[in-house]
Amino acid sequence: MRINEIFHSIQGEGKLAGVPSAFVRTAGCNLRCVWCDSPETSWNPVGRELSVAQIIEQVRGFPTRHAVVTGGEPMIATGIEALTRGLRDAGFHVTIETAATVFKEVHCDLASISPKLANSTPPVAQAGDWSKRHDARRIEIDVIRRFMSFADHQLKFVISSPDDLAEVDELLDRVGGVDLSNVLLMPEGVTAAALESRGRWLAELCIRRGMRYCPRLHIDLFGHTPGT
Ligand code: SF4
Repeated sequence: MRINEIFHSIQGEGKLAGVPSAFVRTAGCNLRCVWCDSPETSWNPVGRELSVAQIIEQVRGFPTRHAVVTGGEPMIATGIEALTRGLRDAGFHVTIETAATVFKEVHCDLASISPKLANSTPPVAQAGDWSKRHDARRIEIDVIRRFMSFADHQLKFVISSPDDLAEVDELLDRVGGVDLSNVLLMPEGVTAAALESRGRWLAELCIRRGMRYCPRLHIDLFGHTPGT
């Protein structure tokens, strides 16, 4: 599998925010978000080939039982099924972080589903053909539903402006059967200042809507730094 990085840090986002975890970041993505915070896995992917056994051996070296498989888009990584099964067999609690545009029979304890809203589409001037391709691929309702069939899941949306909530509402309607306690709204930004500028109004929206506010603890604590 092509792996961008393997590291030990705290989970910065979602239901398990604050939990020390081993992260496996796959290289490669089928989307091109304009605000992508890991362009080295999407716009300019870099990585090295590692076997499933080599990855699990590295993960076992960290003092944690929590493993997070992220990307890029881990669902397009060859061998993702074997990796997630191997991590589970080794006793790890496995979180999968995915944009939910492609489904594979993975093994996980928490499906962290992050459908990409229209605010993610890059302009043609920046992305050329990728602009249309990204927009056509970014929402797959049936794939979202399949990931939601995992007992524990969360739907995490990156929010740039209050207007994005109309699209969230429409998407939740289309998916159907969503428990709002599993819906997390996360401010877009990779600096503490950007998160702060969006955090206040987004927290107020969460309070009004009964959705969860999703911090980005790793940005607050370490800045936007690889390996954190
Ligand atoms: S889905 Fe994730 S990795 Fe892919 S372009 Fe969007 S933010 Fe980047």
